[in-house]
Amino acid sequence: MKILTDTEKLALDKYEVNEGQPHILINQELCQACSTKNCLFACPASLYSEQDGEIIVEWAGCLECGTCLAVCSNNALTWQYPEGGFGIIYRYG
Ligand code: SF4
Repeated sequence: MKILTDTEKLALDKYEVNEGQPHILINQELCQACSTKNCLFACPASLYSEQDGEIIVEWAGCLECGTCLAVCSNNALTWQYPEGGFGIIYRYG
C-alpha cells in the first residue's frame, strides 16, 4: 500500500464552493496595520498570499481548520463555517 504525502492527501479533498459567498472576509484596514502577517505562514493549505500590498485568501480551498482565525493578531478576519452543503468534503482521514 502506497503511503500518501500530505499534498496527495489534500488533492483528494473535494470542495463545494458557494460562489460569491466567502466564509472568510479580511478587514483590509486592520490587516494593513499588522506587522507579523501570521496567516501567510500558518495556513496548512497555503491559501493566504500578498498581492499588490494586500493580503488575500483563496477561501474556496479552505480546510475549515480555523488556524488563520486563531493566529490573526489584529482580529482582521471574519470567519464562519460555510453554509450547510458547502465547503470541504474530506476523502482521506
Ligand atoms: Fe487556511 Fe485553515 Fe484558515 Fe482555511 S481555516 S484559510 S485552511 S488556516
